[in-house]
Amino acid sequence: MKNDFEVIVIGSGPSGSVAAILLAKAGIDTLIIEREKLPRHKTCGGGLVNRARNYLPVNIQKVIHREYFEVSIFDHQNNSEFIVRDSLPIITMILREEFDNYLVRSAVENGAGIFDDCKVLDIEEEEKNVRVETEHGNYNAGFVIGADGVYGISSKVLGNRQNIKCLPAVEAEIETADSNYRTEIARFDLGFFDHGYGWTFPKRDHLSVGVIAYKSNQENLNKLFDEYAKKLSLNILKIHKHGFVIPFITKYGNISTKRILLTGDAAGFVDPLTGEGIGNAILSGKFAAQSIIEGELNVDSIQLSYRNKIKDDILIELKYSAFLAKLFYNHPAVRKFLLKKYGQQFSEIMTDVFAGNRKYSTLLKSPSNYLKLIKPLTGLTA
Ligand SMILES: Cc1cc2nc3c(=O)[nH]c(=O)nc-3n(C[C@H](O)[C@H](O)[C@H](O)COP(=O)(O)OP(=O)(O)OC[C@H]3O[C@@H](n4cnc5c(N)ncnc54)[C@H](O)[C@@H]3O)c2cc1C
Repeated sequence: MKNDFEVIVIGSGPSGSVAAILLAKAGIDTLIIEREKLPRHKTCGGGLVNRARNYLPVNIQKVIHREYFEVSIFDHQNNSEFIVRDSLPIITMILREEFDNYLVRSAVENGAGIFDDCKVLDIEEEEKNVRVETEHGNYNAGFVIGADGVYGISSKVLGNRQNIKCLPAVEAEIETADSNYRTEIARFDLGFFDHGYGWTFPKRDHLSVGVIAYKSNQENLNKLFDEYAKKLSLNILKIHKHGFVIPFITKYGNISTKRILLTGDAAGFVDPLTGEGIGNAILSGKFAAQSIIEGELNVDSIQLSYRNKIKDDILIELKYSAFLAKLFYNHPAVRKFLLKKYGQQFSEIMTDVFAGNRKYSTLLKSPSNYLKLIKPLTGLTA
C-alpha cells in the first residue's frame, strides 16, 4: 500500500467528493480519507437549490427524490402564504446518504482512491509536503483539501474554527399517515418564532422537517421543533430526529496555507440567510481542485488563485447575505412589515438567488442596484 499522493482530500461530503472528481479527471493522484464507514448518515434537509445543482460535475438523476418547481413561503406573523414558481426546479430533494455516496463513487470511478472508516488525527505542513496522520497510519501529500466539516481537524489546525459561528439546527425524517399532505409543494415557515425558520421538504417516502434558530440553544430548539411539528398537524407514524450545527464564517481568516485549502463547512461557507450550505461546499471544492490543476504545483500561485476565487464568488455573497440575515432574524418587527408589504417580491427575489440568476452582491453592492432592489419594494418608478 503506497503512502504518497499528489492530493489528499479529507472528508467525503459534497465538497470533498466534487474536488476529488475534478482532480482525478485531470489525472492527479488523489486520495479521499473519510472518518465514517460509507455510506454514512448526514444530518441535513437535503434540499439542493438549482444554483448548487448547476455546479455539479456529474448528473445526479439517479439519486433525485423529487424536483420542486413550486415552493411555498408561509409568513406566520401576517398569516399569509407566498407561492413561487419557476420553469426549472427551484429545489431538488435528495437524501444525503445516497447523494454523498453517489458523488464519492463518481470520484472513485474517475480514478480517486478512498479510505473510509479512517479518522484523520492531525495534519502537519512541511516544506515540501503535508503529513497526514490517521488512525490507520501516516500519509504524505503535496496538497491537502480540508473538506471535513466544521468539527474536522483541518479547520482546527488552520485556526479557522474561531472565525466560525455555529447555529443549532434540528432535522427529522418523519413518516406520516396523512395521505393529503401537500407533497407537491416544498415549504418554508417564517415568523412562527422570532429568530429563525422551519422547513418541510417531502422526500420519496417521508418528510424532512426541520428548524434553524439564529438565537437559541439546542434545548429551546427542540421545543421550537415540537411547536412546528404541531403546527403542521401531521399524523406522525415514525420520527428520527437529529441535531447538528450550521457553520457561518464571521471573519475572513485562515482558509488556506501554501499546501492546505479549506472548503465547504470546514471554511464556514454556509449562506447565513438561508442556511443553505451544499452549494458553496460544491463550489469551493471545485475552486480548490481548479486552483491545484491550473497552478501546476506552484504553491504561491495555487494559494493566490484559491483565495481570489473564494473572495470574488463566495465571501462577498456571504457578507451581503449576513447583512440580510441580521435584518431579518434580529428585527422581527421589520421582517413583519417587509413581508406584509412585499412578501411576494421577496419570495421571487429569493427564488432567483436559489436559481443563481441573481446575486446578493449585485442586488446590494452599489446604490443604483440597491435602488433597483427596493424599487419593487417601494413602488418607486425610475
Ligand atoms: C439540520 C441541517 C439541515 C441542513 N439542510 C440543508 C439543506 O437543505 N440544503 C443545503 O444546501 N444545506 C443544508 N445544510 C448545510 C449542509 O448540510 C452543509 O453545508 C454541507 O453538508 C457541507 O458539506 P461539506 O462537504 O463541507 O461537509 P460535510 O457534508 O459535513 O462532510 C464532511 C465529511 O468529513 C468527514 N470528517 C470529519 N472529520 C473527519 C476527520 N477527522 N477525518 C476524516 N473525515 C472526517 C465527515 O464524516 C463528513 O463525511 C443543513 C445543515 C444542517 C445541520
